[in-house]
Amino acid sequence: MTIRLAVPNKGRLQQPTATMLKQGGFSYEKTDRALAVPVRNMDLEVLFVRTDDVAEFVADGVADLGITGIDLLTESGMDLDIIEKLGFGHCRLTAAVPKISDITSLEGLRDTRIATSHPVTTQRFFDEQGIAITTVPLSGSVEVAPKLDIADAIVDLVSSGSTMLINGLRPIADILESEAVLVGRAGTSAVNGTIAQVILTVQSVVAARRKRYVMMNAPADAVAAIEELIPGFAAPTVIPLAHDGMVAVHSVVDSARLGRVLPELKEAGASGILVLPIDQLIA
Ligand code: AMP
Repeated sequence: MTIRLAVPNKGRLQQPTATMLKQGGFSYEKTDRALAVPVRNMDLEVLFVRTDDVAEFVADGVADLGITGIDLLTESGMDLDIIEKLGFGHCRLTAAVPKISDITSLEGLRDTRIATSHPVTTQRFFDEQGIAITTVPLSGSVEVAPKLDIADAIVDLVSSGSTMLINGLRPIADILESEAVLVGRAGTSAVNGTIAQVILTVQSVVAARRKRYVMMNAPADAVAAIEELIPGFAAPTVIPLAHDGMVAVHSVVDSARLGRVLPELKEAGASGILVLPIDQLIA
């Protein structure tokens, strides 16, 4: 049976999703109008749908797996498993008020009207806090609602925070952290076959993006110091060079540690250091 993966057909998550699938070796050709496109090298179809509809398509069984934002999954109310956080589409759902408002805390929002494109998530959050509010559901331009006096505050998606600032809003608190995720129905990650293949491939891309492959030359007597800096998975690969006493050392390093490690490698005697991206990594 052909497996279906539902992905965003436009919007912020569309391009990073396509880039991730390409990096994982999924080979397909998207045309502007096609809703479903077969993947050449797998028994898989990619289904292009609105980001907001991905969760529902997966829950209904139209698709087996989907890529969407945590915020949209939460808002959909669908009971799906988050199989993998994908490391892009980071944003926060933030409560904010006009700069001139006296409200400075979540408690201060009691009995206010809150405009939001995420009414379910917002209502649930304030219910959990025991703070009564009224949501004003809007599908866009949430940030102008206080100016139009249809709301006292907003709950909206923020990544840098500049849109809120430009619109004269002051953040009060974050109510949800979001990023893009791979989702499936309960128990999906335990299945075999194409589903498992897609999950492992996506996970291998996510893992690879957090790492870099480093290669360098070094005097053989510097290997111990270098190994301490870049132990890799089991141990670094050490290959003899044509000149006596010199070796090449290869290893995998956390991207986040690179900035600190590179000068230390140089200090330890490494030269000709190369840093390469990795497409996929299965530890
Ligand atoms: P779209 O409306 O199709 O562009 O997709 C919106 C989704 O992109 C949101 O639901 C989030 O999951 C994600 N996203 C990431 N950063 C932001 C942001 N700064 N503003 C809005 N959505 C964001």
